[in-house]
Amino acid sequence: SVHWSETAKEETAGSVENNCFFACEKRDEHGMIHKLRQKRRTGRMKQRIIFATGNEGKMKEIREILNGTGWNVLSLKDAGIDTEIEENGTTFEENAKIKAEGIRNWCLENGIPGCSGISAKEIIVLADDSGLEIDWLGGEPGIYSARYMGHETSYREKNANLISRLDGVPKEKRTARFVCAIAAALPDGNSLVTRGTIEGYIGWEECGSNGFGYDPIFYLYENDKSTAELSAEEKNAISHRGKALRQMKKMLEEQK
Ligand code: IMP
Repeated sequence: SVHWSETAKEETAGSVENNCFFACEKRDEHGMIHKLRQKRRTGRMKQRIIFATGNEGKMKEIREILNGTGWNVLSLKDAGIDTEIEENGTTFEENAKIKAEGIRNWCLENGIPGCSGISAKEIIVLADDSGLEIDWLGGEPGIYSARYMGHETSYREKNANLISRLDGVPKEKRTARFVCAIAAALPDGNSLVTRGTIEGYIGWEECGSNGFGYDPIFYLYENDKSTAELSAEEKNAISHRGKALRQMKKMLEEQK
């Protein structure tokens, strides 16, 4: 009979914890050492999810919401992916889908540089697209929210500009919403999309210093506070992104 003496140690792959491969050394009856890679034998392999964003704030929020699913959520940086996908869709949903499928296709071609041993065919890629719609302005800035007045323009200027475009408009006509679409590109080639919204109105001045972007001018009817006056937890509980992501979490769990 052959006696194997085995020294198994886990490989490290970038910043990814819970790798699914062991690097194994086995010695045969002649004392020869064989280096092997074999799949983890204990436990189920964790579903890897790549969230197509470079924004660390978003990643924190996403990890909090997907906490408890047992999924391993990686940012583009964690996965070692360095590519830009052009968002040339006409809706939030289209843009989220273009991003998720674009990253999935890139991984199928190039692999996942930050995660050795993981096939691009096993991963789920999530992507979001979000923005602010102001009814009085026919839904502007909408899908152009990040690009409104140019990427280089500060949000102080963008916010001041939007307030001035609503000059003289009464509260009941200043209605607006944040919208977020989340798309999932699944291993079987299909895609899922969800949408979350939060309704509010555009105020007359900036208020609050939390959040980002248009938060200081977006006010809630319930308490006349801007979303920049909310803590991160308060905002996650009611935000467009939180809603779309929790809905996506439910749809993905149903697929398990
Ligand atoms: P995205 O990151 O490409 O989806 O761009 C979304 C843009 O919409 C951001 O750059 C902001 O201008 C705006 N936006 C989306 N969600 C929020 C939010 O929660 N607060 C403030 N601005 C937001």
